[in-house]
Amino acid sequence: MNFVSTRAQAPAASLSAAIAAGLAPDGGLYVPDTLPRFSPEEFSADETLAEIAARLLRPFFAGDALAPELDAICREAFDFPTPLRALASPGDHVLELFHGPTAAFKDVGARFLAACLSRLQRGQTRELTILVATSGDTGAAVAAAFHRKPHLRVVVLYPDGRVSPRQAHQLGCFGDNILALRVAGSFDDCQALVKQALADRPLQARVPLSSANSISLGRLLPQMSYYAAAALQHWRREHTPLHFVVPTGNLGNAFAGILARACGLPIGRIALASNDNRVLPDFFAGGDYTPRASRATLANAMDVGAPSNFERLRWLYPDPIALRAAFEALAVPDEAIRAAIFESRRRLDETVCPHTATALDLLVRLRARGETGAWAVVATAHPAKFESIVEPLIGEPVPVPPALAALLERPARAEPLAADYAALRARLLAASPG
Ligand SMILES: *Cc1c(COP(=O)(O)O)cnc(C)c1O
Repeated sequence: MNFVSTRAQAPAASLSAAIAAGLAPDGGLYVPDTLPRFSPEEFSADETLAEIAARLLRPFFAGDALAPELDAICREAFDFPTPLRALASPGDHVLELFHGPTAAFKDVGARFLAACLSRLQRGQTRELTILVATSGDTGAAVAAAFHRKPHLRVVVLYPDGRVSPRQAHQLGCFGDNILALRVAGSFDDCQALVKQALADRPLQARVPLSSANSISLGRLLPQMSYYAAAALQHWRREHTPLHFVVPTGNLGNAFAGILARACGLPIGRIALASNDNRVLPDFFAGGDYTPRASRATLANAMDVGAPSNFERLRWLYPDPIALRAAFEALAVPDEAIRAAIFESRRRLDETVCPHTATALDLLVRLRARGETGAWAVVATAHPAKFESIVEPLIGEPVPVPPALAALLERPARAEPLAADYAALRARLLAASPG
């Protein structure tokens, strides 16, 4: 299989080339040139998540240098469970994606990308530096996934003082080949610095760079697997499709579910829960697509004003009317996030993070409107990562999962950096061995 750009002005690329490049040379996003078609019967009930992933991803890897490694890559990336659990309210479920090393769903994509890139780096003599701007969860997942991988280094930029204390600790606790830079600026400043470095050819001649942001195919493709596994599990039991509500920022997670559905998996409707950044809700309500500056909310990993994967959604649904008919998106402001955290604890005995709370709130609204069938709320992070928001609302401490506790026990260290490109450039050159 080959991968083409959503802007159709770049040559088709192999999977390995598309993963290594990140963005296509015409500025578009890589998408598969054909979509494989599966039926539920092709999967068997005793398959592990890693085996489901390998079966699902095999056509995407066909003909690529990484194809013989696919089983090993999946075993390495999918080494923690993504359980689908029934909630106390009938027909409602939660798909828990926070059992990885940094307690957010981004561990899946980051681990898969690291497993691919470390194989592509074999035999290379020059170190590759992965540059990441993060509003919290991405940087930690990428740092954990690439920690101590040979010939790979990670430089994480995060806005000083604007991530949760536990997120900041996670970013700084790895050391070795991971450098955490706390930038005197906003997330948008961090992202602008990374973009400048990735476009700086003279710098890259001395310090080879790549990125790991949410448009990376190496993150997108594996995320299809947990939707497939959950929907297949439900299908075998009930013979009905499973519907999903997905907390959404850059649309990376939700688009993976949409792609899995387009490949024939028994996935029903997909509803998108936003926080008060309303670009998608406004579009799906019939307005134009108008990117804007992001605003800070309680669900900080979804503070996105220009969802980067929207371009892929438009590729799959070129007609805006058909696109609007296929999905719905609703905004959940901070007050409703707080209420959902409180209510889910009181009514369902569930403790949820602020991102998951947006999806729970949307599900409650869908049920109130008379929606039937089986729905799964996608739980994107463990509530212990956001204890300063959750604990005052539920009135008690959130137990910390062991993987997260282990990271919090390590000492953490981040270097300050001015929000200034010359400073970043100098730092990258100083740290490079060549
Ligand atoms: C990144 C993130 C999201 C948003 O995911 P997108 O792929 O950007 O839509 C939601 N919740 C949590 C906890 C996240 O870390």
